[in-house]
Amino acid sequence: MPTLILAGAGHAHLALLQRLRRQTLPSGWRVVLVSPPEPLTYSGMLPGWLAGHYALDELQIPLQRLIADGPVELHPGLIVRLDAAQHQIHLASGEALGYDLLSLDVGGVLADFSSAKPGPHGAKPGPVGAMQILPVRPLDTFIAGWQAFVDGREAQAGAQSSPAFARIAVAGGGAGAIELALAAAHTLRRWPKIEVHLIAPQSSLLAGHAPGVRRAAIQELGRAGIARVDARLVRGASGPALSTGQALEADLLIVATGAQAQPWLADSGLAVDSGGFVQVDATQRSSSHADVYAAGDVCARVDGPFARSGVHAVKAGPALTDNLLARMAGRPATALYRPRRSTLYLLACGPRRAVLSWGKWHSAGALEWQLKRWIDTRFMTRQRCGL
Ligand SMILES: Cc1cc2nc3c(=O)[nH]c(=O)nc-3n(C[C@H](O)[C@H](O)[C@H](O)COP(=O)(O)OP(=O)(O)OC[C@H]3O[C@@H](n4cnc5c(N)ncnc54)[C@H](O)[C@@H]3O)c2cc1C
Repeated sequence: MPTLILAGAGHAHLALLQRLRRQTLPSGWRVVLVSPPEPLTYSGMLPGWLAGHYALDELQIPLQRLIADGPVELHPGLIVRLDAAQHQIHLASGEALGYDLLSLDVGGVLADFSSAKPGPHGAKPGPVGAMQILPVRPLDTFIAGWQAFVDGREAQAGAQSSPAFARIAVAGGGAGAIELALAAAHTLRRWPKIEVHLIAPQSSLLAGHAPGVRRAAIQELGRAGIARVDARLVRGASGPALSTGQALEADLLIVATGAQAQPWLADSGLAVDSGGFVQVDATQRSSSHADVYAAGDVCARVDGPFARSGVHAVKAGPALTDNLLARMAGRPATALYRPRRSTLYLLACGPRRAVLSWGKWHSAGALEWQLKRWIDTRFMTRQRCGL
């Protein structure tokens, strides 16, 4: 039986999973979703959860629910190797699965700063000396790590009859890092003493957004009392360090630097760009292998790069879906994903405020938060209900 493997339950695969809950599969095909068993966590609402505005189940959907009532089979597992010549993926469990058609939506990984030698699969949580390192991905590990850190500090303070205190550093200059720093400062304002630092070179702060958006975000950081450290996070002799040579002092270091390519793509045989991301055309098909598609953060478009973001991953989903269904039905796959010139981004600011970024335009305030909340909760309701 010919098999389509969906690698990763990322944002771009949601459209296909939804479509297959309503539509029968082209005859004879099987579709297998290969993903770690953790629920889908919607990153757009993660800062809102951290800030205390959402319950966890508002931003998570169990994978079983995403495929409920449809023909897609779930195969839990983590891909560690891809052999495009042999049409096989290899899992951490040692299993090898063959495919006739493959769609990659596995996102990226974070750089490992925890020791002088990089780990093979990206950043891992854990202590380095007195500092706890908490990479933002995988998101469910981040959620558990954050909860454990906060609960641990509060329990320790309670046992010593002293107020809870922490120095938190967030590394990264993108929207996600800024939102997490603002959310951490907001939620821990209940502690009598809290220091939050944002580590990012000035030039990388919201790179790609208009100057007004950067100014608005800097204002929000100032309002929240977040200190900015103009430096890059680098791998030092014994763990994470600052590119400027200043001391890095924090109880918790949240690593939210940009996504890097999954390391196993480099020797998969697929054409990749200089960063190791899978090169695809406007139909999201691999530029080297006609039976491989990729969308979301895992790919690089050969017809002109655009930002890696959840918005583009979601919006590429319908074209990817049309093309995979066409290929299974033996029809030409011609649907194109053409990103709009400007993309709407809404940055959560800790309290119920947000910064809106749309091309050259920006605005900030409580209405922007209401808009963000409406868009995000509607998106999650649709995914949950299969709409
Ligand atoms: C805090 C935060 C807030 C953000 N907010 C926004 C926002 O408001 N708007 C926006 O546009 N973007 C936002 N982003 C960026 C956004 O999260 C990513 O660009 C988006 O998730 C990319 O989607 P994706 O489908 O490519 O991959 P992902 O969403 O990362 O999904 C990848 C999937 O693949 C699975 N997977 C990973 N590795 C493997 C493997 N080896 N084998 C099998 N499965 C695997 C994962 O479990 C996951 O299910 C934010 C990011 C962060 C960190």
